[in-house]
Amino acid sequence: MYIIEVASEMAPLAKVGGLADVVLGLSREISIRGNSVEIILPKYDCMRYDLIFGLTPTYHDLQVPWGDGVISCTVWFGFVSDQKCFFIEPHSPENFFNRNTFYGCTDDVQRFAFFSKAALEFILKTDKRPDVIHCHDWQTGLVPVMLAEMYQHAGMSNQRVCYTIHNFKHQGVFGGDILHATGLHRPDYYYQYEKLRDNSNPSVLNCMKGGIVYSNFVSTVSPRHAFEARFTDQGHGLGDTLNRHQEKFGGVLNGVDYNTWNPEIDHHIPAKYTCDTIQDKYHNKDALRDRFWLTKDMKPIIAYIGRLDEQKGLDLIYHAAFHSLNRGAQFILLGSGSNNEINNKFGHLKNQLNNSPDCHIEIGFNEELAHLIYAGADMVIVPSVFEPCGLTQLIAMRYGTIPIVRAVGGLYDTVFDKDHAHSWERNGFTFNDLDTYAIESTMNRAISLFYDYPHDFRQLMINGMKSDYSWRRPGENYVNIFDYIRHK
Ligand code: ADP
Repeated sequence: MYIIEVASEMAPLAKVGGLADVVLGLSREISIRGNSVEIILPKYDCMRYDLIFGLTPTYHDLQVPWGDGVISCTVWFGFVSDQKCFFIEPHSPENFFNRNTFYGCTDDVQRFAFFSKAALEFILKTDKRPDVIHCHDWQTGLVPVMLAEMYQHAGMSNQRVCYTIHNFKHQGVFGGDILHATGLHRPDYYYQYEKLRDNSNPSVLNCMKGGIVYSNFVSTVSPRHAFEARFTDQGHGLGDTLNRHQEKFGGVLNGVDYNTWNPEIDHHIPAKYTCDTIQDKYHNKDALRDRFWLTKDMKPIIAYIGRLDEQKGLDLIYHAAFHSLNRGAQFILLGSGSNNEINNKFGHLKNQLNNSPDCHIEIGFNEELAHLIYAGADMVIVPSVFEPCGLTQLIAMRYGTIPIVRAVGGLYDTVFDKDHAHSWERNGFTFNDLDTYAIESTMNRAISLFYDYPHDFRQLMINGMKSDYSWRRPGENYVNIFDYIRHK
C-alpha cells in the first residue's frame, strides 16, 4: 500500500507531545511492513534542521488557491530517521510557519487550514495517488472534508482517509472566513449539524468534527479512550457525533518506537542496560544526580516528564513534589508549560524547592534530558485528569522505571496495579480518584515497596521492561484498517 501521513508534528524535529512520536513510530512500522510511506509537514522555522538529512527544494512554486488569491509555496524534501518527508513552505506576508513556535498563535486555525489545503494541492499536482491519507488531530481535520468536497472531483476519487484523534480537547473551531479561504464556501451547507457545525456553539464550525464526519475510518489512541470519548464528557462535545459514526470508529493503542526509546541502544544515556543487566541502570541514576547536584544516597527518584497542561493533573504533580520529599524520596520534574500562568506556578515551585538536595525542577522542552530521566529515575508519576493514550508510562516501563498513574484512558489500558491486578500483568501502581489522598496513598505504596521489598520492586521493574508496547501490534492494526478502507 501507499500511505501519506499528513501531520503538524513529527519526532524528533517538530515535537510538542505524543503526536510527534506516533507519526514517526507508526510510519517506520508501516514501512517495515513493506508499504510505501511519505510524510507531509509544515516547514516550521523552529524545527530541528540538524535532524533532517539532505533537505532540498523539490517543488518550486506550488500554487495554492487561498481566499481571493493564490499563495506560492516551495516544497522541500528530506529524510528524517530514514523516513521520506516533504515540508511545505508558503511565501506570503502571513508567514504561517515562521512564528518561532508550533502552536499558540491567534490564527492557528488559518495556519493549519492552509497547511491542509497545501498538502492536498501538492498531492494532486505531483500525481501522487496514495491508497490512504492518514491525518491527525484538528490541524488536519479539513483534509478529508476538502478531499470529499473538492479534490475528489479533480482526480483524487480513489483516495481514502483514516483520521486519528490524539486529543479531543483541542478541536479547531472557526467561522465563514475559513470556508471562503479554503474555497469550500457554501456556509448554509457546512453549518448543518450533520456536517461541520459545532455541537456546543452553533455559531462556529469545527475542524475535528469535519474529520470525523468525512473520514473513512476514525481512530483514537486507546480502546478505553474510545469508550470515554463516546460515553463520558471526555469527548468534549463530540460524543454524539462519534455515536452517529460508531461503525467507523475505534481505539488503537499507541506504540513506542523502540529504536528511539530503548535503554539497550540509547546513545543519550551514559550506561546502556537490559533486563539482565538492570543493575547498570543505577549508573544513569548517578549521572542524573550529578547533573542536578542531588544527594547520592539510598532514596528513590520519582519523576514527572511531560507538558504542563491542566490535562496532566497539575495540582497533583505539584503536590507529589512535596509528598516525595516528605516520604524520603527525591523528585525531578521536566515540564513545558502551555501558558504563562502555569509557567509561573511551576517557576514558583522551582524557587521554593531547587535549593533542596533532593529536588530539581526543570521548565522547558529537552528531548535528550528526557532520555536520561527515564533511565535514571525509579518511578514516574502520570496523574492525568484525562489521557487519550499516554506515552510517558510506556517509555518509562521500557527503561525499568515504574509508573504511578491515574487509571484513565490509555493509562487504564496499559498500567496494572502491583496489589490489585492479576499477578501476571502487574507492572505499576494505579489510583482512581483525582485527589491528593489517592496519589499520596499510591505513592506511599510504591515508596514502601522500594524500601521494604527491594526484590519485589525489582521484579516489577522487570515486568515493565518485558512488556511489549512496541509498534508491532498497533502497526498491524493500522495496516489492517488502511487495507479495509482502501477496498471500500
Ligand atoms: P501528550 O501527547 O499529551 O503530550 P504523551 O504522554 O502522549 O503526552 O507524550 C509525551 C511525549 O512528549 C513523550 O515522548 C515525552 O517524553 C515527551 N515530552 C513531554 N514534555 C517534554 C519535555 N518538557 N521535555 C522533553 N520531552 C517531553
